[in-house]
Amino acid sequence: MCRGGAESLPGVSTCQLKPEPSDLALNEDVLRFVVSPVVYNTWVKRTYTFRLRPTARQHVALQACLDDHRALYNAALEERRMAWRRCRISVRYGDQSGQLREIRVTCPEQSRWSFSSQQATLRRLDKAFSGYFLRVQAGQKPGFPRFRSERRWNSVEWPRDGDGCRFKPEHRQVYLKGVGTLKLSMHRSVEGIVKTISVKREGRRWFLLLCCDRVPTRPLPATGAAVGIDLGITAFIATSDAELVANPRHGRKAAGRLALAQQNLARKRPGSRNRRSQREVVANRHRKVANQRRDFHHQLARQLVDRYDLLVMEKLRVKNLTRSSSSAPHVRATNVAAKRALNRSILDAGWAAFTKVLTDKAEEAGRQVVTVNPQYTSQIHWKCGLRGDRDGAFFWCPHCTLSEHADLNAARNILRAGLAPPAATAA
Ligand SMILES: [Zn+2]
Repeated sequence: MCRGGAESLPGVSTCQLKPEPSDLALNEDVLRFVVSPVVYNTWVKRTYTFRLRPTARQHVALQACLDDHRALYNAALEERRMAWRRCRISVRYGDQSGQLREIRVTCPEQSRWSFSSQQATLRRLDKAFSGYFLRVQAGQKPGFPRFRSERRWNSVEWPRDGDGCRFKPEHRQVYLKGVGTLKLSMHRSVEGIVKTISVKREGRRWFLLLCCDRVPTRPLPATGAAVGIDLGITAFIATSDAELVANPRHGRKAAGRLALAQQNLARKRPGSRNRRSQREVVANRHRKVANQRRDFHHQLARQLVDRYDLLVMEKLRVKNLTRSSSSAPHVRATNVAAKRALNRSILDAGWAAFTKVLTDKAEEAGRQVVTVNPQYTSQIHWKCGLRGDRDGAFFWCPHCTLSEHADLNAARNILRAGLAPPAATAA
């Protein structure tokens, strides 16, 4: 039934049965695909993340650094709100940045930190406001930039290496003004030019994020193989080489433990020390799932990028697919539950996150990722290009009287659309 193996792929378009003239219109629709431009970069941008190993004293200092930057953000937000409410004046980044010097004189605790990192925090507020106004203009209903509680503020950025901070890879250390020289767990070497340095807190752990520019790519030797990838729910991916990779569903597996932790949290008295520590337990369980999922994405993407020169995927519209089920009042209640379950599966699968990982890895390896129009990929037979019927997990083609695995059929259609030369759309 299935023709496997990469060597047979280039022949895909030649072995089709001749389509009926009435079906040609459909075929052209299928071929109306989107090809991302082929750009072989010699360098890429990249963010490296390393675990920080602060001493007890540095841990306290890092927390103080975070708290003071948060206080600055909240104060700047308050200033903008009051200026508008009382005098209808919009305060801009330039105005607020101009006051920094004075603030550092009057508030000694603020003067402990880097001037530039404080500017970066003010720019962050400015960005929140411009995003808000853009969405207002676009007729959406955005939330007003909010005051950040301790829980909603977990990072500080230094916009330039050497300005209030210094990355010292040779010693596996980083210097941060006001905190001192911290040890790093460096599991890999950093390439390119370090642009910005950020510190991020995740629970009790601290991480250093290095945004690097001009990181040289490492093109892999060509394999001459191409693959179509269909993203699904039962199988996380199906490939045109007849491979199905099961969806690990980390979220579902951990759901029981997570629910238990959340019930525990609900029983704790608000504001209590117990509640605070239980909240950390819940956060840790969420984080564990997120880490497992990311790991899975990276490993799978690595395998695909190693094996194929050309990777064809559907253009994703996750946002549409996961639109809130309650926003469709005409849908019956049972359907709402089903839609919700589907939404959860989609989010669980993390297609968008996987696509991003795959695209980044491909770019670094000099591989090409092509996205195609998802229309019809599940409705037509890959061999003949004619419309068939979906029957559960299978696809039935009445013209060839063949039954195929539905996801594999879709993956082959995706590959076919990706391989079709752009001229085919005009013909
Ligand atoms: Zn057929």
